[in-house]
Amino acid sequence: MVIRSAADSLGLVPLMTPLTEKQVRASFVNASKREANQATLPDLAAINWDGLDYLGWRDRKAPLVAYVIVPRVDDDVDADGVTDGVTGGVTGGVTGVLLRAGDAKGGRPRRKGVCAWCEDVVATADVSLYVARRGGAPGRNGNTIGTLICTDFRCSRNVRRVPLLAEATTPEAKAELTARRIEGLRERAARFAAEVASTR
Ligand SMILES: [Zn+2]
Repeated sequence: MVIRSAADSLGLVPLMTPLTEKQVRASFVNASKREANQATLPDLAAINWDGLDYLGWRDRKAPLVAYVIVPRVDDDVDADGVTDGVTGGVTGGVTGVLLRAGDAKGGRPRRKGVCAWCEDVVATADVSLYVARRGGAPGRNGNTIGTLICTDFRCSRNVRRVPLLAEATTPEAKAELTARRIEGLRERAARFAAEVASTR
């Protein structure tokens, strides 16, 4: 039986299918084997995958470490480099990225701002600067990419928030705006993951 999610009814198919621990650990493109094996995973069986555009969590044993597992959304995104990860790459069409909260100088990672992925203008109270070491040789040379993301990775919930009256008035307009937001989140997350994985 296929359960239709909100995104589905908007013409967007759920992007994530349930992943196994093995798939998650194998998906990291910027982690060493050791880091991938040591990652503290969430309870994968308890996750509502249908409602997710990507999976993100903090490592409860390493407070400044976080992970995102991002599905690849189109050919442009996965065209280059994504299979060249340190751990041997991508399974099931997802890219795993190991993140560190805060900058190298140890500045306060949490702040107010707009998440670069969901771009939600309501939930701006808690975003964090997350930094990813790039995969392959660039990463070994200290090359990193940083981005502001919702601290607790609630982007998928944010983009499904019912639009405010000021944003859209009719049900159709609201549905269209929500679909656009979901698509935007998927694209921006995938672009970031592809950039981390790119070895150029
Ligand atoms: Zn967000």
